[in-house]
Formats: sequence, structure tokens, C-alpha cells
Amino acid sequence: MTRFYLTTAIDYVNSRPHLGTAYEKVCADVIARYKRLRGIDTRFLMGNDEHSQNVYKKAVEEGLDPLAYCDRMEQEFRKTWQRLDVSFDDFIRTTEPRHKTGVTDLARRIHDAGDIYEGVYEGWYCVSCEEFKQDKDLVDGKCPLHPTLSPEWIREKNHFFRLSKYQQPLADHLAAHPEFLQPDIRRNEILRLIEGGLTDISVSRAGQSWGIPLPFDPDSVVYVWFDALINYASAVGLGADQALFERWWPANLHVIGKDITRFHAVIWPAMLMAAKLPLPQTVFGHGFMTMNGQRMSKSLGTVIDPIEAADRFGPAGQDPLRLYLVKEIVFGSDGDFTWERYDDRYNADLANNLGNLVSRVTAMAHRYRSGRVVPTGARSDQLVRVGEQVVNDYQRAMDAFAIHDGAAAAFRLIDATNEFIAATSPWSLAKDPASADRLTQVLFDAAEAIRLAAVLLEPVMPSSCREILRRVGAPESERHFDRDGRWRGEGERVLVQEGPLWPRKEQTTVSDNATQPATVPPATVLPATVPPAAAPSAAAPSAAAPTAPGAADRISIDDFMKVELRTAKVLAAERVPKSKKLLKLQVDVGTEHRTLVAGIADAYEPEALVGRTVVVVFNLKPATLMGIESNGMVLAASPDGGKPTVVGFDSPLPPGTRVR
Ligand SMILES: [Zn+2]
Repeated sequence: MTRFYLTTAIDYVNSRPHLGTAYEKVCADVIARYKRLRGIDTRFLMGNDEHSQNVYKKAVEEGLDPLAYCDRMEQEFRKTWQRLDVSFDDFIRTTEPRHKTGVTDLARRIHDAGDIYEGVYEGWYCVSCEEFKQDKDLVDGKCPLHPTLSPEWIREKNHFFRLSKYQQPLADHLAAHPEFLQPDIRRNEILRLIEGGLTDISVSRAGQSWGIPLPFDPDSVVYVWFDALINYASAVGLGADQALFERWWPANLHVIGKDITRFHAVIWPAMLMAAKLPLPQTVFGHGFMTMNGQRMSKSLGTVIDPIEAADRFGPAGQDPLRLYLVKEIVFGSDGDFTWERYDDRYNADLANNLGNLVSRVTAMAHRYRSGRVVPTGARSDQLVRVGEQVVNDYQRAMDAFAIHDGAAAAFRLIDATNEFIAATSPWSLAKDPASADRLTQVLFDAAEAIRLAAVLLEPVMPSSCREILRRVGAPESERHFDRDGRWRGEGERVLVQEGPLWPRKEQTTVSDNATQPATVPPATVLPATVPPAAAPSAAAPSAAAPTAPGAADRISIDDFMKVELRTAKVLAAERVPKSKKLLKLQVDVGTEHRTLVAGIADAYEPEALVGRTVVVVFNLKPATLMGIESNGMVLAASPDGGKPTVVGFDSPLPPGTRVR
């Protein structure tokens, strides 16, 4: 393959992009950047969908000419994509003349083929979806996506596309080309839909001015969905520039949300078949982003501004965001975003892991070798093998659009490099003059492993990886996978030692040197205001507190309910080395297993806790104690001068039971 043309869905401009919109663009951008890294001539298209009645209405509401409104929104979208480092090559707006040319051309081709005919449409129309709805699509007479609106009953002259004629050709195409629709779950849905029978669809709206007139009936405009799909072809010269069109069409990949799979895997290929144009190679329907498990919606307050998410980690904060979106969500499945988890992954993957590794290796290279390292002897075969395996895994994953696996593969090399440093302990080698060559080679190998990981991660975190490559002495401006995506055992590396790439995001941190029960780390053991009683209701803070707080200090039930208490079963327990107070626990909280640290070692032998049901604060931000990340806290009562007693129950309860 010498060229790769990929697109994303074009966006309605009646609101600014939210994190769900950004998710799609970032994932497509990672694929585009990977293809460029592979030396493939790549064209990455994005754009805005402007011929929507919702856009028109929004412009009228704001007292603007619709085009002026769209101009303004284009700037909003471009600003967001720039902040997220999305590297599109072309940006199309459906109000552009080139798009009108493409739509006119395609409509004429289908009409000439006899696949558009005139009729009367009578039925339901959801204005918000801008979709014609059949009775079976409605729930209690309402559009399921817009239950607060009533669909309109319309009767108007429409032009219809003979979609029914393409039922069998579409089924045949999907059967012959399993790569056409991915992931598999989408293909199965669409196959069932096609088998259920396809009906002809209206492709025009009568009596509207905002849209592209039908070439054979200028009093009607092209229906917005029919119009929008054609952007992929009009952006590469359909109807205007035959050479450009032949160079880039058909597209290799349409990245879209799963909700619009039907348009892209049924209607769009049927339109192209009717126009006798080649079909795109692959349609990939990604999943939805949720916030704290809820659909992103303005009214629910669950819409996240991607610029705010990027700014959270400073000027280069787009890279932590991109890594989260790519690595934490299986591409093709739904994924969730919470600010807590975002901070947590930032600290775990970047501050504590990759960033810390770069700092340590560059610092040791400076301390022991003035920043210059050259190969001096036998390289670490084991680390080289991990590197080679990771490159293979990465390439296989990225070629299959499993970008989450690609990112995870690169992190396996980072983990292996951390282990390599721990195992070789350069600080010990530095004390022994006989190990001088060995030390230089260890530092070289570590720098090389970081270089290789940064090359693999560059499509995900472009600017951060360029900075890492500069620091490990590989500052070439342009990367080529065949040359740079393999272990390189030669050449001098001049390493640069600078401040941390990703300073740790501050969280509740506590010290372990407490001696008095009253100063037991607050993140591990609740202060002595909770009675040691067994009944769940006894956890109410005022019930048996030694000194009842004054009314003004009392909290509301809403405040209390913010603390999510759950039962948890202790699966494993061990002492934290060098700590008299802390135990490390593995617990089952019903939905997952967690590690947490509890300051109860002076009261409990670890073995005595295994199998017990305890109460944990489930929604506590993670905190790191003695280098262990604690995700939650065990409730215990700590009487003055006495040892803590964990809160328990008369009889066992299943893990994950809410305590309130
Ligand atoms: Zn609707």
C-alpha cells in the first residue's frame, strides 16, 4: 500500500466539540500519524457538517446569517483540534463550492442510473436527529434519542433512492470483505439489519433553502445525511478534479461513531454502487465516551470540554489526554472518563513510569558518564528481545486499528526497562571500577529502549515523544519506522538532563511516621470518631462520637452520601516493608479487585485479615504510601491509646454491598 486516505465523521456545528467528539479525532489522528511513520503517503480529512436544520435554527436564534455562524464555529473547531495536536491534511465544510460540485455530480450519477425516483413521503421525522422514522423506530410515539420532543408528521414531495435494490449486493459485499466493517460486533448488527430488508429512502427535502439544490429538481434540497456522506469524495475532487479523485478514492478508512454505522455501512456503499464508484475499504465504528458512566449530555452536566482536559496538565497537556483516550479505551468499545481516573493514569503512566524513567536514565548518564554513552560490550539480549517482540506486537496491533494494544505494547517495553535498571543497579556498578564498561553499556541499552518506546508512542504523544527523543540523544526531526522502529546498537548518545517531563499531580499524600493514634494517616484509617460497633448503621458519624459536633458543624445527609462506603473482602494481606503500621491489602470490592494500604499492622497479623469482610471508602482519590498506590481506605476505630479495630459485621455480606 503506498497511500492511505482516512476520514472522520464531519460534525454538526450547533455546539462546540466535547470530549466524545475529540475522542474520534484523536484516535483517527493516531492512525494517520502511524501511517506516516510507516512512510505511507497519507491524507487525513476532517470537516464540519453545516447543512443541518439544527445549525440553521441555532444561527437564527443567535441572530446570525447561517454562513456567518458556521464561519465562527469553524474557528471553534479548528482551535480545539489544534490544541489536541490533530494533524488533519484537509478540512472540508459542506457549504464549500467543491462540496456542492461533488454532491451535484453524485446525485446526477445516481439519477442517471435510474436509482432516484420521485414520490411522496408521508411519515414521521425527528427534527433533532434529522431522520425519517418508521413506527418501529419510535418508543411510545417518541424518538428514543429525543424523548422530550414529538416527531413531526410530514407529507411532502420527495425524491427516493432505490436502497432496496442494493440489499443483496450489500450482503454479498459484507460477506466477501469482512474488513469492510469493523469491529465484528458492528458487522453482525448491520448484517441482521440488511437481512431484515431495506426500504427505499428519501434523499431530498421540499421547500427548504438551507442546503444544496437537487440538480434535477432545484426546488428541493439534498437531504442532509445524503449530502454529508458525499464529503469524503468531494474533498478529493469528485466531479471537479479527476486526477486527484483517482489518486485518493476509494478511501481506506472511515472512522465514525457506532450510532451512524447504518449510514456508512448501508446507505453510503449503496450510493457508491449506484454511482458505479468504488467502495471504501473499511468503515470502523468506535464506541461512545461516557463521563462517570453516564452519557455525555449538556443537561446532565456530563459534557467535558477537551480543551479543559488538555489544559489540566499544562501547555503539553494534550499528550496525557491523548494517551488516556487511546490506551484506556478499547478502540471499538465504549469507554469512560472520570477526572479521578485521568489524574490517576497520568501519575501512573507518565509521572511515575515513563517520565521517571527518562529522568533517572538521563541523570545517571550525567552523573556517571557526563551525559555521553557509547556501546562498550555485550548488550542486554533480554531487553533487546523484549524490544523486538514489542515492535512486532505494536505493528500488528496498529495495522489492525487496535491502537489501545499498540500503546500498551510500547508500555511493556517501558516496564521492561524499569525492571532492567532495577536488576542491573547501575548505582552499584558505579562503585566498582572493574564494571566501568558494563555500566556504560547498561546506560546505553536503557537509553536505546527509551528511544524505541518513544518512536512507537510518537503517534499517540507527538510533542512529548519528540522531547524524549531529544533527551535520549536521538533528535532526528523525522522518524521512519523501518529505520527507527527497531533496536539500534550503535553510535554515541548524548543525553540531555532537564526537569521532569510530567510533574506528579498532587494528591492526598500522607506520611508513615505517625506514632500517636490520633495522627494515624488520615487516608488509611478514619480518625477515632467511628465506633467499633458492628452494625452498618453505627457508621453514622454522630451516633456515638465521643464528642458530638455542634449543630453548625454537622454535615447534611447529602454531604455524607458523597462518601461511598462498600463492603470488601480481603483476598490477600502483607506487611509493607520498613513500615510498622502499614499493611498492603488486596480486596474484592464487588466490581473489581483493588490494592489499598491500611495503617493497622500493629493490631492485625496479615493472615488474620484474609477472608474477612471490611468496610472501605470506595470513592476516595488514590494516595501513594511507601511507594504503594492505595485505592480506598479501610474503616477502623482507633481509641485513644489503643489499637485500631476494623469495622466488621455480624454475618458475612457479599463484597460491594453499599454501607450507609
Ligand atoms: Zn431523534
